[in-house]
Amino acid sequence: MSTKPMKPLPKAKQTVDLSKADTIKCDDCGNYLFITSFVIKKVSAILSPTGQEGLVPIQVYSCGNCGQVPKSLLEGSGLETT
Ligand SMILES: [Zn+2]
Repeated sequence: MSTKPMKPLPKAKQTVDLSKADTIKCDDCGNYLFITSFVIKKVSAILSPTGQEGLVPIQVYSCGNCGQVPKSLLEGSGLETT
């Protein structure tokens, strides 16, 4: 049996200089640390591909300080306008 350590998964070939990338900050308080949260959508049986009512979680990031989710991260959740 092999005892070789598991190799890390290959990284994407394209390297991105993250120091030049924009840091998303909280619209409300300017905090830049976010925690993962889930918006949970209740899908009615009519809309569901399986024909059954169900809950669909959408992962978003909420501010670790005030809990606000940046509007740019809410796209597709149906909550953009609220
Ligand atoms: Zn905040």
